Amino acid sequence: MAIKFKNRIALFNTLAVAFTTAFVFLAIYMVVYKTAYAHLDDDISVEKEEVLSNLDWHRDSIIINKMPEWDEAEHSQVEVNPTFLQITNSKGKVIFRSSNLLKEQVLANQSQEPFYDGKINNQKIRLGQFPIINNNGENIGKLTIAVSQEESFNILNNLIWVLLISFPLVLLVQFFASSIAASKAIAPVHQLIQTASRIGDSNISTRLELPSHRDELFELTQTINELLSRIEVSMVQQKQFTSDASHEIRTPLSAIRGTLEVLIRKQREPHVYEEKIAGTIKEVDRLDALLDQLLQLARIDAGIAARNETICLAELVSLSGEKWERQAAEKGINLQITIPEDVLVMGDRLYLELILDNLLNNAIKYGNPQGHIFLNWDKTSRVLSVKDDGIGIPEKDLPYIFNRFYRADESRSSAVKGNGLGLSIVKKLADLQHIVLNVESEPGKGTTFMLQFPS
Ligand code: ATP
Ligand code: MG
Repeated sequence: MAIKFKNRIALFNTLAVAFTTAFVFLAIYMVVYKTAYAHLDDDISVEKEEVLSNLDWHRDSIIINKMPEWDEAEHSQVEVNPTFLQITNSKGKVIFRSSNLLKEQVLANQSQEPFYDGKINNQKIRLGQFPIINNNGENIGKLTIAVSQEESFNILNNLIWVLLISFPLVLLVQFFASSIAASKAIAPVHQLIQTASRIGDSNISTRLELPSHRDELFELTQTINELLSRIEVSMVQQKQFTSDASHEIRTPLSAIRGTLEVLIRKQREPHVYEEKIAGTIKEVDRLDALLDQLLQLARIDAGIAARNETICLAELVSLSGEKWERQAAEKGINLQITIPEDVLVMGDRLYLELILDNLLNNAIKYGNPQGHIFLNWDKTSRVLSVKDDGIGIPEKDLPYIFNRFYRADESRSSAVKGNGLGLSIVKKLADLQHIVLNVESEPGKGTTFMLQFPS
């Protein structure tokens, strides 16, 4: 069963109030109960003092002096707040009883306690029994005083009923009050939901209005606004990427088409065909490589998690080095690897290979012919660096080289082919493995890419 949020709040509130109310009611009952009984016991004690002060004794026999109160209604009647008195001698024989006590209604000694509960005529009574001690300190009899409990009993009984009836009423009122308060409190949330639900692709730049108070709602609205901003940025990037990608795919395709159109127009010498077809194959290869990179990016974007395995860095780098050695040699570049055998890093082997492939590919493409490429490991900073002495990257391009399809003007105009995707792949893969990627470059001197591995 789905309970509305406001009712859930009201329910929790009511539960809390139920506990507190139950506790308070119990405390009230206990206080009234104790007070009522303490009161009865006090009454009995006062009566005792009065009676004892009117007793005399001769050796061990008790002499009862007549007191004016003996005739008072409380001692003679049974109906209105009666007080019963009974005096027994040391042998237990009743030697005095108040006139409201009938002969057969002996105030029996049921308890060892000075105060105890009993019944007379089906009436609940409270009794007090006290020894009568003469001047020699001898116990010469016992005084028993009883008062009716009816009044206290009625008060407590009424109190129980009042508490029992008011308990559910208090909870009911509390539930409705809480429910109203909660619905008022969450009204801004409803507003937020309504506004947020109106935001779609077409008006993604709309933002929710921030509440005037800096409370949780303010934070929630701010968080949603930030989320919307991120979505907007990624939507813009996505659009940019799609248009860049289609442009990059169309370029080799229109080159191929142009070549084929030229060839079909009239008969050519065989060597022209060979030349044009070789050019077309190059364009097809470029397209193939581009599609490969796009696939890689799509795979990374799909959020395939990086594996976290222990990798021997020297082994991994030397395998990549072997792969690129031939191309480096063709350009007269010397590849130098100095990585201690015992360096272990955590990461995804496949992803690390891709990173190295891209960095080495760049270092060779943009490297100095007859120059050097150094692959080094710095133990203290845990940095693997790929350093070349090639054309370098102008400072103005540095912030953008990790963007998709970005190529520095230098490389764009040069004969060096590329899609501007390699470094964006490297950056994504490094982020996935928590590797910090940095670059230092000086035009004309060379470039160093640094991969800092987490320790
Ligand atoms: P591809 O997608 O084939 O890798 P690309 O090499 O042009 O194409 P990136 O690897 O992303 O693309 O590099 C982006 C740009 O950064 C390059 O076009 C180049 O201008 C610059 N660049 C990258 N590495 C180097 C380097 N080692 N030396 C000089 N410039 C570099
Ligand atoms: Mg590249």
